[in-house]
Amino acid sequence: MVTVLKHGVTDEQIENLCKWFKTRGLDVHISKGHYQTIIGLIGDTKKIDTELLESLEIVETVKIISEPFKNANRKFHPDDTVIDVDGVKIGGGNFALIAGPCSVESEEQIIEVAEKVKAAGAHILRGGAFKPRTSPYDFQGLKEEGIKLLIKAKKVTGLPIITEIMNANHLDLFADVDIIQVGARNMQNFDLLKELGKTNKPILLKRGHANDLKEFLMSAEYIMAGGNERIILCERGIRTFEKYTRNTLDISAVPMLHELSHLPVVVDPSHSGGMARLVKPLSLSAAAAGADGLMIEVHNDPSHALCDGAQSLTPEQFKEVADKVKKIIEVTSK
Ligand code: PEP
Ligand code: MN
Repeated sequence: MVTVLKHGVTDEQIENLCKWFKTRGLDVHISKGHYQTIIGLIGDTKKIDTELLESLEIVETVKIISEPFKNANRKFHPDDTVIDVDGVKIGGGNFALIAGPCSVESEEQIIEVAEKVKAAGAHILRGGAFKPRTSPYDFQGLKEEGIKLLIKAKKVTGLPIITEIMNANHLDLFADVDIIQVGARNMQNFDLLKELGKTNKPILLKRGHANDLKEFLMSAEYIMAGGNERIILCERGIRTFEKYTRNTLDISAVPMLHELSHLPVVVDPSHSGGMARLVKPLSLSAAAAGADGLMIEVHNDPSHALCDGAQSLTPEQFKEVADKVKKIIEVTSK
């Protein structure tokens, strides 16, 4: 349920109303916009007499939110959420380019890629340390050592870093990581999501291979229910009957997620198509569809990559994509 307050209500009036909601056992979420203040209510709102609430002098209107996701809902928070990662902003008209290898493989590799993607226009460096591989016999990542190498690359380039967590027991290792990624395979690992809800780190949540948007937003809700509201949604392609591409990029998810939620939406064109030559067209379409950023796999030597070489761009190819994406943003931004 959402209570929209009249223009000009005082902080004291808001506080008193919130106290009253809390005595009814409800959690409140206050969103102060330029013109109006909205109080979102979470919990068993059946206890509230909506007619009585609407009759209060300070209340403009009361809306019932039918969707099961509340904190992530745009009705709770009409303005776009902007996530600030060490000065790099994502969302609300701020476009971020995240680039780097699928996996961190060595110090030379990650530093070379970090320097080159930065020169090409990337704002954030990605690199997997804990890798969720389909086969247990495939390279599983450098783990703790991989995170240390990412931190070195951050020191050298100044780029904030993002890497994937697979197990909440590893959280201590992520203390100096700027954004924690939850991969597609763990989108519904609810225990992991709950633990991330207790942190104050930005979380990039990837959509599961076979999850619809409601399920995706409910996973964001799990993190937000714990108090961490710094979520970036990532569309990375879903599994369909199509076999020519690794996954199918659900481009309509971008405007639909923007409609449903205030959280920023980025697109991963690398895992979507699974082929380097598809990264440019998918990136351009994602930017045109209103994505708040892109996460692109870039490797210094894709044909020898330990993971996802076929979909990795060289730094030179990444530069070409980044330059074209900038042009799309120039024409589509308001
Ligand atoms: C990744 O980003 O390296 C990754 C494993 O992605 P996804 O979870 O989307 O498969
Ligand atoms: Mn990958």
